[in-house]
Amino acid sequence: MGKPIYVTKSSMPPYEEYIEVIKPLWETHWLTNMGKWHQKLEQKLSEYLDVPEISLLVNGHMALELAIQSFQFPEGAEVITTPFTFISTTHAIVRNKLVPVFCDVKESDGTIDPDKIESLITDKTVAILPVHVYGNVCDVESIKQIADKYDLKIIYDAAHAFGVRHKDIGIGNYGDVSVFSFHATKVFNTIEGGAVVCKNHELYEKMYNLKNFGIRGEEEVSYIGANAKMNEFCAVMGLCNLKRVGETFAARKRVYERYNNAIAEIDGIVSLINKGEEMNYSYYPVLVEDSYGCSRDELYNRFKKQEIYVRKYFYPLTMDCDCYRDRYKKSCVEVANYLADRVLALPIYEELEDADIKRVIEVIRSQ
Ligand SMILES: *Cc1c(COP(=O)(O)O)cnc(C)c1O
Repeated sequence: MGKPIYVTKSSMPPYEEYIEVIKPLWETHWLTNMGKWHQKLEQKLSEYLDVPEISLLVNGHMALELAIQSFQFPEGAEVITTPFTFISTTHAIVRNKLVPVFCDVKESDGTIDPDKIESLITDKTVAILPVHVYGNVCDVESIKQIADKYDLKIIYDAAHAFGVRHKDIGIGNYGDVSVFSFHATKVFNTIEGGAVVCKNHELYEKMYNLKNFGIRGEEEVSYIGANAKMNEFCAVMGLCNLKRVGETFAARKRVYERYNNAIAEIDGIVSLINKGEEMNYSYYPVLVEDSYGCSRDELYNRFKKQEIYVRKYFYPLTMDCDCYRDRYKKSCVEVANYLADRVLALPIYEELEDADIKRVIEVIRSQ
């Protein structure tokens, strides 16, 4: 047996490069509060992601919470979302005192099924909050049509979709607002971090205040904000990682293609990745279908015995977690349940070696 293999491994720049850039911080002592590197990373990211403006935050979750807060929806209003996601998506809605209404997803890629949205709309609905899960692009055109028809806001959880493009523009341009995560486990990281894409300067200013206690001036506090600013050490990490992001994607693409070729010959194992225009290879989720011959959990345990720590992303559905079970109206999420019971995310990261990829594939083959 080889060394343990985990589902991901954080990208890091060369040590010397990072140290070189943070060195001046020992002279300026400017460690946080929208410093030089925070500004520089905002500028670089708005270029890279091809979006008008972007506001950096301490993590993706706070970015999502504060992006929702910026709309000032009335307490108890309903937000249509999906349960096939990381728990953060649902928490961000509920922590804003809004009610999540769970919509089913598409079997092909796990994103919200636009055909099932309209029947969930009530006079309390204010927004749709879809997730570009695994970097799979939601059906942004149909979602927009529905939102326009019923005058709803669209808030995208784009935590998985860094660098993804659709119809030749950055994914962050869709919807009223999009939120990214730069957590250590994501395809691009700032150690911890996140961002809100701003369509206009007004939203940028609002996010700037919301992440800094709602403070507008020395003697002026206009919003009930939080403290969710990104610090300089994280911003520098982001700048260093951003330089190498092309290499990161290329290295991950090699893994992705190796897996694609291997599973093409294995009955009952199918990829949940939707081959979009420009993808980021952030995850490699597969479905263990009934024809494979053993269950997802059996395969998971077989991996574990080989010290390969694959993950059940996303099981359980957020609506079935203890804090939410039986708390909200039941809607039919048959497909989400189907996926949650069969999905397994395989290891994918820049430094995953050929021998490791082979070990992963062997476990799936050794039926
Ligand atoms: C990671 C993630 C978040 C939260 O981001 P953090 O930076 O970890 O706070 C939100 N939604 C989804 C779908 C995620 O995967």
